[in-house]
Amino acid sequence: MKIAISSDNQIYELSSPKVISTDNELLVKAISELTPKEKRMKAKSLVLVNKKTKKILLELSLIHNQHFYPLSILDYANAMMKLMKKEISNLPIMSLDSHDYNFCDFNCKDCLAVDTREWSQRELDFNTFNIDDYEKVLKEIARYSKERGCDSVRFEMSGEGNPDMYKHRARIIKFAAEECNMKPVYISSGSRLDEETIDVLAKYAYYIRISLPGVNNKAYDIYSAQKIAEDKKFNYEKAIQLIETLIKKRKEYGREDKLMIGARTCMRPENEGSYIETAKKLGNMGVDSFQIVKILIPMGEKIDHYKLTENTIKEIEELQTNYKNYGLLHVQTPHDLDYMYYDREIEDTRKPSQCYSAFLSPILYGPHLVVCTHWEKIKDIADSHYGKMTGEVGQLEEMMCGENGQRIRKCVPEKCSSCCSIFDNQILEVLRSQLALESNLDNVEFLLTY
Ligand code: SF4
Ligand code: SF4
Repeated sequence: MKIAISSDNQIYELSSPKVISTDNELLVKAISELTPKEKRMKAKSLVLVNKKTKKILLELSLIHNQHFYPLSILDYANAMMKLMKKEISNLPIMSLDSHDYNFCDFNCKDCLAVDTREWSQRELDFNTFNIDDYEKVLKEIARYSKERGCDSVRFEMSGEGNPDMYKHRARIIKFAAEECNMKPVYISSGSRLDEETIDVLAKYAYYIRISLPGVNNKAYDIYSAQKIAEDKKFNYEKAIQLIETLIKKRKEYGREDKLMIGARTCMRPENEGSYIETAKKLGNMGVDSFQIVKILIPMGEKIDHYKLTENTIKEIEELQTNYKNYGLLHVQTPHDLDYMYYDREIEDTRKPSQCYSAFLSPILYGPHLVVCTHWEKIKDIADSHYGKMTGEVGQLEEMMCGENGQRIRKCVPEKCSSCCSIFDNQILEVLRSQLALESNLDNVEFLLTY
């Protein structure tokens, strides 16, 4: 049976095309026992419902819980509702991806950051973010978003290099959480995480995702391509030990209900035979999420050379079916089990009709606020950089809502060769269009279903 919950925790049964109020004790109990993490990660769809007739006006099933966590599609839908009701004049920044450090200890074969990293060292003189400036900038972003209805911004640190190596990592995480009410998300190989940062992450982060260049020592070594002595190299086993430490620390702080810990790897021929073993290991340890993704085929190479083998397809299908039995809350595997890589030519043509991401999830590239994380935009100072932030109060109104901000957003998506946030943009367009059809927005509300 499918159920839906309203923002004031009213529980409904879904009886398409309607929702019906329920006092079914079992359902009420099951819902009240969900942790905040489960509430976001177990949602099945988003529905828009007429409050009086209880009729379902729209249902979206592709809601990518893990992608938005610790926020959810419901937060984005409600922000769009506020905008359409004219309660806010512009959308808030809801998710901020911060590239605050520009060096890496790995030399991954398909690293997408190499080009922009070199470019920014040359053109922006950017290597690392001054910590005092960084704190002021986060404070200003939190203020701007709060005034537009978003009290807690998702703050993702992924870097253009290894974020573990930023020397003020622990301080900025603590500051973001305590002084800005942000929800830290941390994405890294973890190869240089120190004790203090591990502790701060366990205490304040909402999502820690450890990237695994391979899911066995051989693949890890090949794809991380570390140029140091053998005994100093970080490897698959050390990464698994690190994840165990994070899980232990999470328990110490009693944050299992909020902090999601995950691992992610890319499809590689050398990973074959190790996906399930890794999934079981992670699930047993208490890891929540395991992602296996395809990346774009390297420039100049032919997709046909990278057909997936039958064994890998079998392994991935088994993982999709059994992940809950392994103890995982979430698994992500590629939809098309055909090739090891995404076809660059197809991916490069996907574009939305409007860019909401430029409002909702710009990135910080050092102190530079940029429309999105696409390499093309990072390198386009004139038409994609909102500007260099100093953290002065009120700076964002001018930067994002002023003439230049409007001009920049007019250039996209037309000027973009492809879109790195195609899913977010398409889903927000659907939500906006549906709300535009409603004559009285006070009569409708968004619910998550389970
Ligand atoms: S760890 Fe990330 S940033 Fe570093 S080389 Fe590999 S892909 Fe690039
Ligand atoms: S690539 Fe263009 S359309 Fe896509 S998120 Fe970036 S700016 Fe927006």
